[in-house]
Amino acid sequence: MNGHVAIVGAGPAGLGAAWELQRQGHDDFTIYEQRGVPGGLASSEYRAGQWYDFGGHVLYVRNEPFKAMLAELFADDELVEHPQRRVIELSGATVPYPIQRHIDALPESWRPLAEADQEQLPAVPRRNNFLVYLLDAFGPTLCEHFFFPYNRDLWGVPLETMSCDWLGDLVPKKGGAFDCPRLYPAMGGIGEVWTRLAATFAGKIKYGVKADAWELADRNHAVISSAPLKAPPLKYTSLHVTYHTGWDDDDHERWYALGNVRYAAMGDPRDRDAYTAEWNEYQEGAPPDIHRYEHYAYPVPTLDRDELVAWMLRRTRNNRIWSVGRFGTWRYEQGHMDQCFLQGVQAAQEILSE
Ligand SMILES: Cc1cc2nc3c(=O)[nH]c(=O)nc-3n(C[C@H](O)[C@H](O)[C@H](O)COP(=O)(O)OP(=O)(O)OC[C@H]3O[C@@H](n4cnc5c(N)ncnc54)[C@H](O)[C@@H]3O)c2cc1C
Repeated sequence: MNGHVAIVGAGPAGLGAAWELQRQGHDDFTIYEQRGVPGGLASSEYRAGQWYDFGGHVLYVRNEPFKAMLAELFADDELVEHPQRRVIELSGATVPYPIQRHIDALPESWRPLAEADQEQLPAVPRRNNFLVYLLDAFGPTLCEHFFFPYNRDLWGVPLETMSCDWLGDLVPKKGGAFDCPRLYPAMGGIGEVWTRLAATFAGKIKYGVKADAWELADRNHAVISSAPLKAPPLKYTSLHVTYHTGWDDDDHERWYALGNVRYAAMGDPRDRDAYTAEWNEYQEGAPPDIHRYEHYAYPVPTLDRDELVAWMLRRTRNNRIWSVGRFGTWRYEQGHMDQCFLQGVQAAQEILSE
């Protein structure tokens, strides 16, 4: 294939596309990145002597190209296994994750109700919408105390307007998405992956340039864009992340049902002190002053999302734009770093095989 490929965004998806183009010997591409650093949502910041990520990020390695890229860039001891210890803080109890497997650890005042619910759960939860699914899957007591408040905060829309087709591997089960090893760079935060990868495309990344995929499509052979799809009915949530030090126990994540905040420990798991807190709404006076905000943080899987996205993707492809990544396909369920990287790789493969 001859022709210049324009890539919008130097996050995992855009860099995945560039990695594959370069791997196949196609050096004729440019990456446009509106910020001054690579990595997008998965970039890290060095503040007050610590590397901080935008919320808790670990590497799930579930596809071969992602594995191959990491092996090229990191020696074995430069990626360390990250522990998978998560707890849920409820009023009056700390319950191991996932809550539905730890009913015995619930507060005594409502544990009997939750236990009784488990006897009544239908064999197969209905999937009319997310709210109905949660009730059938976990029962009304766990929903009232955890699943409803947590998910309302996280998604910012009524749960009955969300589909549940996206859940797939995201409900914890043996052999599911979260049973794979979780890796983390020994130094440099999660952004170290993307900084190292971006360095292999020296001179091909134009930083500080906000690009328009539609304009680029007029003057390039093809465009691979990880910019958010522009379709107003699509819902998303924004996120504030604050940076802290003083993480004082072995848990990796603490989730709260109430209070709009999830804490995650960061940094080298062997010597960890730094942590971040995610806030859906940043309250004045909330600690501390070091703070990063992302407008596009979580793409929300609403009931009408798939139809809207399919329509948008047909339109972009008709104009030789391959829309990829977390907000380029609006699929939270395919929105982890390895999955977005793979989408970029696959777009490059399609273009090269034309
Ligand atoms: C709180 C939180 C926790 C997460 N935890 C994990 C985790 O543990 N593990 C995991 O695998 N994933 C995790 N993720 C998801 C991970 O951050 C994403 O998978 C990944 O960053 C998405 O990559 P992307 O390239 O699709 O998009 P982005 O990371 O959003 O990158 C897109 C890039 O494109 C640039 N851009 C956008 N529009 C333009 C334009 N018009 N012109 C030029 N540049 C543009 C942006 O500046 C950005 O750099 C988490 C996400 C969040 C928000």
